[in-house]
Amino acid sequence: MISTKAMVLRVSDLAEDGVHIETLEEPEWLVNLPELWSGSGVLTLLSKIGIDLQVTKVLKEVSVIGNVRLSIQSPCSRCVEPVKIELNPEVSLVLSPGDKIGGQDLSLDHETYQGEEVDLSNYIREQVAISLPVKVVCSEDCKGLCATCGTNLNKDSCDCEKDQVDPRFAILKDLKI
Ligand SMILES: [Zn+2]
Ligand SMILES: [Zn+2]
Repeated sequence: MISTKAMVLRVSDLAEDGVHIETLEEPEWLVNLPELWSGSGVLTLLSKIGIDLQVTKVLKEVSVIGNVRLSIQSPCSRCVEPVKIELNPEVSLVLSPGDKIGGQDLSLDHETYQGEEVDLSNYIREQVAISLPVKVVCSEDCKGLCATCGTNLNKDSCDCEKDQVDPRFAILKDLKI
């Protein structure tokens, strides 16, 4: 296994024809995954993180193109059943020396680096974070849980009065969202 050091590049050592980085990181590499996620519920990493990048240099600009593979699991936001999700975020970055480009016109795919060394790890983590689903559902037509008795309505039915609405939520029912 190649260590995380593989993602630290010395720009001056990069040949014009670049370097190919292929590595499989342990789940610990994304130990901050829960913080990266803006969704609700628990997010679990099910696999190692496969990283495949082609790095090239044009003058002082470093271009990084490739993809990341990982699978995660999170409970369905409606029925709470675990849902397995394969993620395959693409990486397409251009890194410029930090002193050359000033603030505003930096887009998501255009980052800067300071000094001679570039640690790609944080950029890659960022791409993973962006690819995370905001809301996890097991299927678009998941019926969820009965609000009254908690029955999983995908698997079973119940006799609860479906029109019974908690008075606290009744007002929401009339709102057009
Ligand atoms: Zn569901
Ligand atoms: Zn019920």
